[in-house]
Amino acid sequence: MHETAPHVFSVDVEEYFQVSAFDGSIDRARWPEFPSRVAASVDWLLEALEQHQARGTFFVLGCLVAQHASLIRRIQDAGHEIASHGWSHRKLTSLSRSEFREEIRSSKDALEWVAGAPVFGFRAPSFSLVPGLEWAFDVLLEEGYRYDSSLFPIRRPGYGYPGTPQRPHEIARRGGTLIEFPMTVLTVAGAQLPAAGGGYFRHFPYAVTRAALASYARRGTPATFYIHPWEVDPNQPRLPVPALQRLRHYGGIGQARQRVLRLLAEFRFTSIARLMRTAPAATMRAFSAFAS
Ligand SMILES: [Zn+2]
Repeated sequence: MHETAPHVFSVDVEEYFQVSAFDGSIDRARWPEFPSRVAASVDWLLEALEQHQARGTFFVLGCLVAQHASLIRRIQDAGHEIASHGWSHRKLTSLSRSEFREEIRSSKDALEWVAGAPVFGFRAPSFSLVPGLEWAFDVLLEEGYRYDSSLFPIRRPGYGYPGTPQRPHEIARRGGTLIEFPMTVLTVAGAQLPAAGGGYFRHFPYAVTRAALASYARRGTPATFYIHPWEVDPNQPRLPVPALQRLRHYGGIGQARQRVLRLLAEFRFTSIARLMRTAPAATMRAFSAFAS
């Protein structure tokens, strides 16, 4: 089943207690109280990717660098790409331009220092790069980033960038051109269903993700899949959060590992860095030529 071009496998590396869904319930000041579980889950993902000879992009939070330097090196040494998920998991909607610059500069520096390789990709916490925050593209370019993977072509409270092309494309700004790798959607009866991974991967039937990836492959464009380490950690401690957040965070978590393995068996995956190396700018423009 591996005859098609590879899709992007991406991991947003953060702890189970650092998720945005818990923002109102779990105070950041309490983060140091919770036992870390991220390394074991990332190691599970590394093994699953290795089993299927797949590579991926790991968007890592800068605040994890001090405690998890060896984990970051393991990711790098296994042939995957290290990219930035910002420093503190604060949404862009709550940051000034200079605070955003500090987030992406400090995380890039720390991750490059630990991984010993250049970091040039970024994913916003909770896809919070929303319409009106396009200045973030300029800051990314100014800070040496070459691509962004934060846009979700759907309309949702608090996130989403409706109308963005459903394929990798160039974003031309005064200071240069950034490549965008948007999240995957499945178009059903003219409506866009989020089908990129994460909670949608756990809550919707597996067939939704499979149909989305197959449809991107038919159009000749890579889809971007994402997952969090805590989503493949069925035994994580249950935190005292309200019912809706509990459903969002823990729903379907028991079957996520099986689904990841099935996805890796059915599709070919690579990192964004490798895709950019093998599909340079001219190919990006070709992706853009496909009408969605
Ligand atoms: Zn995140």
